[in-house]
Amino acid sequence: MVTGGASPLVVFLVASAAVLIVLPISPASALPAGLPDIKPAFPNPWSAFKNLSGCHSGDERRGLAKLKEYLWHFGYIPEAAASGRFNDLFDADMELAIKTYQSNFGLGVTGELDVVTVTQMMAPRCGVADVVNGTSTMGNSSAVGLRGRGLFSYFPGSPKWSKKTLKYAIATSKTSINRATLSQVFARAFARWSAATMFHFTETASASDADITIGFHAGDHGDGKPFDGPLGTLAHAFAPTNGRLHLDATETWVANGDVTRASSAGAVDLESVAVHEIGHILGLGHSSVRDSIMYPTLKPRTKKVKLAADDVKGIQSLYKGNPNFVTP
Ligand SMILES: [Zn+2]
Ligand SMILES: [Zn+2]
Repeated sequence: MVTGGASPLVVFLVASAAVLIVLPISPASALPAGLPDIKPAFPNPWSAFKNLSGCHSGDERRGLAKLKEYLWHFGYIPEAAASGRFNDLFDADMELAIKTYQSNFGLGVTGELDVVTVTQMMAPRCGVADVVNGTSTMGNSSAVGLRGRGLFSYFPGSPKWSKKTLKYAIATSKTSINRATLSQVFARAFARWSAATMFHFTETASASDADITIGFHAGDHGDGKPFDGPLGTLAHAFAPTNGRLHLDATETWVANGDVTRASSAGAVDLESVAVHEIGHILGLGHSSVRDSIMYPTLKPRTKKVKLAADDVKGIQSLYKGNPNFVTP
C-alpha cells in the first residue's frame, strides 16, 4: 500500500482453524465441496473465510462483510464504497472484485467464492495492496498474451530511486532475533537484488543516515496500516523513495536454519519476506507469477529467496541491469 488513504484496520478476531495450505489434493479433477475441518493448527485472522466457500452473487451469508473489508483493504473494492459499513450481501461490486482477484492470482475467473479462491484468500500475505486507485497493479495472464510483457508491475507512476548506493538501518526493538543474525539475513536479501542490478546496499547503524529503515512493529504503529497478529498480513513496505520496511513483530519468524522443518505450523521465513519487501522498496509492485518473489502470498514453512525471471525482468526494466547477471 503506497498512496495516501489511511486504511482503518480490519482486525479479524477470529481464532479458528488455520487451513491455508494443507488442502488435500484429491486425485480426481473435481474439487472438494468444502474445506476440510482441520483442527486449528495456528490462529489465522482470515480462517473464518472458509465458511464462505460456495457463496456467489445474490447470496447473503454472515461473514461476507468481513471478506468485503479484506477485498477493500487490498484495493479490490474502491475506497468510496467503504464510507458505509459493509453488509453480508454478495452484490455486483463484490463479484467484480472477486473476478479481479482471481485474475490477479491466476485462478479460474468465476466471480464465485469457490474453494480454490477462498483458500488463496486465507494465505498469509504482504500488506501492500494489489489494486491502487482502482487500477490493478498486478499483471495478468490475458494482458501478457496480448502484449507479450511480463507479469511484474510497478507502483502508479513508476517511482524509483535516482541513486545507486542505498544505506539501510535495522531497528532491533520489538524482536528477539539478535542483531548479527538480522544483519546476515538482510545482507543476503539485499544481495539478491544487487546481483541483478547496479545497486550497492550497505548497512548503517544510524537510522537518520539511512535511505531504508527496517523495523519490527506490532498492531497499530503509526502509519495507518496496523498489523494483525500472527499470519494474515506479514509485512509491508512503501514505494520509492520512502524507504520504510515494516515486519509484523508477532509472526513466528525463522531467521536461522531450515524453515521447512520448523516446529511451528505458523513459522515464516524472514529472509523470504525480506527479499519480497525489498522489491517494493525498489519500486516493484505485485506479480501474478506464482513462483516470483513479488507474488503476494507466502505459505508458512516455505523458503523463497531466489529472483525468478519475472522479478529480474521487472527490476531490469526499471533500472539498469548488471551485465554480468545471468537471468534464471
Ligand atoms: Zn508485497
Ligand atoms: Zn507499517
